[in-house]
Amino acid sequence: MLNELSRTGRIGFSLPEIPKSMRVNVEDLSKVIPDAMLRTSNLDLPQLSEPEVLRHYVRLSQMNFAIDVGMYPLGSCTMKYNPKVSQRIARNSKIANLHPYQDEETIQGALEILYELERMLCEITGMDEISLQPAAGAQGEYVGALMMKSYLHDKGMQEKDEMLVPDSAHGTNPASATMAGFKVVKIPSSEQGIVTAEALKGLVSRKTAGMMLTVPNTLGIFEREIVEITKTVHELGGLMYYDGANMNALLGKVRPGDMDFDIVHINVHKTFATPHGGGGPGAGPVGVSSALAEYLPIPRIVRKGEMFSLDYDRPKSIGAIKSFYGNTAVLVRAYCYILSLGRDGLKTASEQAVLSSNYLLSLLDDESYSSTTIGVPSKHEFVVSASPLKRRTGVSAGDVAKAILDSGKHSPTTYFPLIVSEALMVEPTETEPRENLETYAETLNEIAKRAQESKTELLSAPHNTAIGRLDEYRASHPNTMILNWKELKAR
Ligand SMILES: *Cc1c(COP(=O)(O)O)cnc(C)c1O
Repeated sequence: MLNELSRTGRIGFSLPEIPKSMRVNVEDLSKVIPDAMLRTSNLDLPQLSEPEVLRHYVRLSQMNFAIDVGMYPLGSCTMKYNPKVSQRIARNSKIANLHPYQDEETIQGALEILYELERMLCEITGMDEISLQPAAGAQGEYVGALMMKSYLHDKGMQEKDEMLVPDSAHGTNPASATMAGFKVVKIPSSEQGIVTAEALKGLVSRKTAGMMLTVPNTLGIFEREIVEITKTVHELGGLMYYDGANMNALLGKVRPGDMDFDIVHINVHKTFATPHGGGGPGAGPVGVSSALAEYLPIPRIVRKGEMFSLDYDRPKSIGAIKSFYGNTAVLVRAYCYILSLGRDGLKTASEQAVLSSNYLLSLLDDESYSSTTIGVPSKHEFVVSASPLKRRTGVSAGDVAKAILDSGKHSPTTYFPLIVSEALMVEPTETEPRENLETYAETLNEIAKRAQESKTELLSAPHNTAIGRLDEYRASHPNTMILNWKELKAR
């Protein structure tokens, strides 16, 4: 802690002199600020030399894990490398210094970028119109569900109040549908981990408003019965929603629009390599077929000749769902990613992601980590169950995940999807070289081997990280969490 390192008089900074014209008279200030708000003593700031401050922050940064540090195969989250060229362009002052209240005439370039990005995403997804506004996948889903509701209402189909959601879905799906006022009907997955048209029988009816389908699903496999499922739901007047958070598996291969979906969202912070994690901004653009276009959130970016403008005059729109036009700086990065890879590059990225995932799976010791989708090729990620390992040794998926940290790599997603016991969900992404995939598999296999001889050590892993194994209850319970620095002697 900087406060603990502080020694009086150890000053480590020098500030340039403030020009006369910019100096503020303290006397004048005290006339404006109420007495009760004025500081009566000096601020107690730590006093340190420059190297001490520098070392403190570098040390903190080293306690963090990031994709720029090592392999980060957190399944479903798609922690793919964020190309520095996209970062650099988004940081260009002409983009970074834009203000949302600027006049339209002065932001023509930004609007053009966003407009073009919309067109590109329409091309990639096969949808007719897209809104870039939602700030995340979950918000995209919510927007989709709201549009579905308005559309059905306008068609006089208010009795449609049920949303079909597979049991393998991301938790955001049932949450978004519920928030939009639908009743969620759970569809069980088949033995092979997919949704079959057969499974809809008895659950689909005139009350079905629509269905949310994740493709590839959370087991990392393609839903093979999409055509039959879509037909069944459409015949009853329902709409099909495509959760395309992980379109990164399918770029240039198939398009939701061609598969007759009515609404789709994509996560640019997964599929198009924009940064995420740590609560930073993302974007979950939502695309629709022309029948639903008038319900998209306002404002819409429209082009008239050479000019771009923001259109708020859309009576059927579900309204504004995000301030201004969405997370523009993030969208610029997605635009750069798409342009820098191009049509063929995007397709190759998906192919590489799928190849990496299948290769890594093929290297795993299947007597410890059993595949959940035997006989079906994986897409960009796969899920194994550590149940065989746990049965044999008592070492669980959670213990394996902790032990991986000791090798300087990030662990996979654990205990998701909920339909797999002792789940480890691995998504290597297209940016890892082959050697890293091999080393990762070796690490997992070696942990399985060590589970016999050095079980106690594994059960208390990690040992090489800045912080050891946390008590998961105390680490997340408000009564026991320590969120502020407290002076040691005061504790
Ligand atoms: C990540 C993800 C979401 C949610 O996206 P957020 O941007 O985290 O809100 C929804 N569905 C699937 C399949 C996902 O992988």
